Amino acid sequence: MGIRVKRTEFTREMKEDYTILCPDMAPIHFSLLEKVFRNFGYNMTVLKNTGPSVVDQGLRNVHNDTCYPALLVIGQMIDALNSGEYDTERVALLITQTGGGCRASNYIHLLRKALIKAGYGNVPVISLNAGGMEKNSGFRVSFPMLKQSMASLIYGDLLMLLYNQTRPYEKVQGESRKNLDSWIDRLGEEFQSGRTIRQREMKALMKEIVLSFDRIEREEKSKVKVGVVGEIYVKFSSLGNNQLEEFLHREDCEVMVPGLMGFIMYTVENGVIDQQLYGGKFWRSVVMDRVNRYLGGLENTMIQAVRKNSRFTAPSPFKHLKSLVDDVIGLGCKMGEGWLLPAEMMELVSKGYENIVVTQPFGCLPNHIVGKGVVANIKRIHPMANIVPIDYDPGATRVNQENRIKLMLSVAREKLDDVKSNAVDRIETTIKESSRDSQPVKMI
Ligand code: SF4
Repeated sequence: MGIRVKRTEFTREMKEDYTILCPDMAPIHFSLLEKVFRNFGYNMTVLKNTGPSVVDQGLRNVHNDTCYPALLVIGQMIDALNSGEYDTERVALLITQTGGGCRASNYIHLLRKALIKAGYGNVPVISLNAGGMEKNSGFRVSFPMLKQSMASLIYGDLLMLLYNQTRPYEKVQGESRKNLDSWIDRLGEEFQSGRTIRQREMKALMKEIVLSFDRIEREEKSKVKVGVVGEIYVKFSSLGNNQLEEFLHREDCEVMVPGLMGFIMYTVENGVIDQQLYGGKFWRSVVMDRVNRYLGGLENTMIQAVRKNSRFTAPSPFKHLKSLVDDVIGLGCKMGEGWLLPAEMMELVSKGYENIVVTQPFGCLPNHIVGKGVVANIKRIHPMANIVPIDYDPGATRVNQENRIKLMLSVAREKLDDVKSNAVDRIETTIKESSRDSQPVKMI
């Protein structure tokens, strides 16, 4: 018989003086979300604690059979409560419940059990979900808050994209980071004014953001381009993926990480696909479709802002992404990251990021199927794809993971050298031909 875990509600009174701690999944996006939450009266703090004690707390308080993201998220929260930095009588925890068929919907129950085990059973846990799965009288996502949150995600996607495409080439080290940080601060102020969600202002702001990255002085050189896909937490979180982006940067690569909005739209789209495949409430699929149209509008504003500047590679619209998997996987595969994962790989290859790291957490069967399982199919369509799935779990050593990626990079570098020498050959041939053609004609 399972143990019934008592729930401590987050009440209206708590909203006044409680600090809400949230795991750090996607650093850029969550820094913006933090500002949105504060704007609506929630004293939210995104956790930054890392290190072995996080994994240790996860292992100690969560069953070791649990997926790795749950272990890290719960470990990070308990480590923060243990740190003495927060008044544990005035702190609440926030965790997402995706509502899909996967275990992520049940992390919240694991967290509550772990809190009791660690002696923090009094700490309220707030569920962030779109399906009304759990309610707290002191926590309500109003419509304006939801709109601003979605806007923050699309700004996060834009900033991440531009930062990743500028940092490897910057002449003055640290300039891209400085620009990124200043935009996170500026957007925080713009959220307070409420302007950031109106279409016209959004366009203007995004244009300004693109130009600010464009102005950063760059060295013109070719780099190995690497795409990162995978389970949503280990894909974005440096805690989950052992600072993968930093490692790739040290290896002199340019990194492309498909945005968070794609994942949100994928989750919503599955409501429409479900109805088409299995039936169910038609009105629900109509609502989902309308939501995705709205999100598609935000996405389009961002894509247009990037496309207007030829220096940066813009992502493809979500609808196009969905069409890319027609010959790879069925749309009914929607556990974990489902069909989105191969769709992102297909898109990355088509945009020149043919070297791909697939980040997979321990215990995650769905993503092994839609990650590792589709590699052969993708290579059939794109033979030049150079894909390496990497497992992340408490027992995997960073050295091991990095060595496997280095192997993939050595293949990528060989290809890049071939491309460069072919380009040099072509230029030399063109010069020879044009100089021969321009020989003065001898007069007899
Ligand atoms: S997608 Fe994988 S990591 Fe995420 S809840 Fe499901 S099994 Fe766990």
